[in-house]
Amino acid sequence: MADPLPIVRTVKDLRAATLPWRRAEATVGVVPTMGALHDGHLALVRTARAECDRVVATLFVNPAQFGPDEDLSRYPRREAEDAKILAREGVDVLWAPPVEEMYPPGFATVVHVSGITDRLEGEHRPGHFDGVTTVVAKLFTQTQADRAYFGEKDYQQLQAVRRMAVDLDLPVEIVGVPTVREQGGLALSSRNEYLSAEQREIALALNRILFALADRVAGGADPVAEAEAGREALLAAGFDAVDYVAVVDAETLVPFEPAAGHPGRALAAARLGGTRLIDNVPVAPRG
Ligand code: AMP
Repeated sequence: MADPLPIVRTVKDLRAATLPWRRAEATVGVVPTMGALHDGHLALVRTARAECDRVVATLFVNPAQFGPDEDLSRYPRREAEDAKILAREGVDVLWAPPVEEMYPPGFATVVHVSGITDRLEGEHRPGHFDGVTTVVAKLFTQTQADRAYFGEKDYQQLQAVRRMAVDLDLPVEIVGVPTVREQGGLALSSRNEYLSAEQREIALALNRILFALADRVAGGADPVAEAEAGREALLAAGFDAVDYVAVVDAETLVPFEPAAGHPGRALAAARLGGTRLIDNVPVAPRG
């Protein structure tokens, strides 16, 4: 059996845990999560474990990134189980602060990345990315990690965090890890637990439609027309609502211009009952 994982609750104890590593000039990786771990999270942890001397996983269900009508209260929480999984994966410390430690009384600072966060998720989840970038900036300064691991599953988040790290000269390398999918292609997500068996079948259409439209755009089809056709295909497949389907520049997330010669990314968000699913795939122009 793996040794139990130390769970740290205060910034002071986190500093005490990581100070000897820093003194030894060990490279430190951080893997931010909201818990309810699945194989997508584990891909991040394993990449960090392979690349860093020490790994801190974080577990914080961040109220600041949930809107008032979102699923904060029902978000799955199972810290003890998550800690066992992370211990088996060789993580060194679990940083799981209470909300009052992260946001003490009087907390008043927001880290806002403009541009990248304006559209797509930003349009449909006002305030979401401010919550993300503020807490991620704090996680970076708290852990003083050399490398931080994020999933491509949350592609706009990954690009916003990259932008923030560059703009604020944060001494951390942002590493993106490809999306882990179930058989059938559904991207693993803690929110998949909300889906009924019937909804799970419909959910498979999200990745199928995105891969198909990305392939057509890569072959020269019009990105705007394909995105519109993708929206209709999602509704026809049984999704209750489609927040967006878009093909964008993979770095800046502005609308995709095939002639620019940059890689693109096709992204979508759609709803099944009360569950909101997101996914994205690369668009690599041929020839
Ligand atoms: P979350 O706990 O949902 O906030 O996710 C924590 C991290 O895991 C984020 O960087 C996510 O992008 C990443 N992640 C979530 N699902 C997947 C997946 N299916 N494949 C790869 N990374 C993922």
